[in-house]
Amino acid sequence: MKDDSNGPARAESAASSDRRPRGRVSLVGAGPGDPELLTLKALRRLEAAEVILHDRLVSEEILALANPAARRVYVGKVRSDHSLQQSGINQALLDWAHSGKQVVRLKGGDPFIFGRGGEELEALVAQGIEVEVIPGITAASGCSAYAGIPLTHRDHAQSVRLVTGHLRNGSSDLDWPALASPGQTLVFYMGLHGMQEIRRQLIAHGLPPDTPMALIEQGTTARQRVHRGTLATLPSSLDSSLVQPPTLIIVGGVVGLHATLDWFDPGEANARGWDTGHRR
Ligand code: SAH
Repeated sequence: MKDDSNGPARAESAASSDRRPRGRVSLVGAGPGDPELLTLKALRRLEAAEVILHDRLVSEEILALANPAARRVYVGKVRSDHSLQQSGINQALLDWAHSGKQVVRLKGGDPFIFGRGGEELEALVAQGIEVEVIPGITAASGCSAYAGIPLTHRDHAQSVRLVTGHLRNGSSDLDWPALASPGQTLVFYMGLHGMQEIRRQLIAHGLPPDTPMALIEQGTTARQRVHRGTLATLPSSLDSSLVQPPTLIIVGGVVGLHATLDWFDPGEANARGWDTGHRR
């Protein structure tokens, strides 16, 4: 069942506290796209859910695995209006839990990696709501695996950094000298808009312009595309107007391994009906 309003009816949430049924909120990671990357625990909670609040990044195929009687509430966020919408989402979670429901807050990837799961958990814990967090496969793990790009490799990278590419204050948001150190893999989430600045700053702070770089589009789905190049050349091989979000950027020597380790065939995945894609 779909629903336009975010929360339960006021009369329901105003039930007297001692007679209230106990609600519970599960913050659940849905993984990066391929429904088979859901955890067993996530699937069980989806099957038992009474209310599901979900994001834009969660595919229809994953929602189709949920209890068909569950009320579905879409709480996708607009890029420019995060904070206002986030407080509305927190409130809706509280209201549904107070009304005694088994609530699943379903998020793309992992709830604690650029997913605002921490903020939602803070709001729920502050109100004494029963909560749990079910981790998911984050985009960095899912996309790198399906693109044949090991995030660490003894010959190339001894550490990995997961970085936001959403540069709110221009380039000053990030510690560029640290990001430009050798021997590590950088994974930029939300980096498509800031890609030129990211490339420029990494080169300016000392990464060689021929450092391998990849942009992975709709990773782990039947429409996955991997654009590979270097910090200097990637844009000439990529017409960003044709790129379909979500996209992930990986920078570092490990990206070169894609040429030989690229095992995933999205066309075959499509034919086998693995996944037909992200919700938009
Ligand atoms: N909590 C999520 C991240 C949310 S931020 C996680 O753990 O994966 C949203 C960003 O995640 C997108 O802008 C994109 O950079 C990345 N992302 C999520 N799913 C993706 C996918 N299937 N392919 C490529 N990038 C993805």
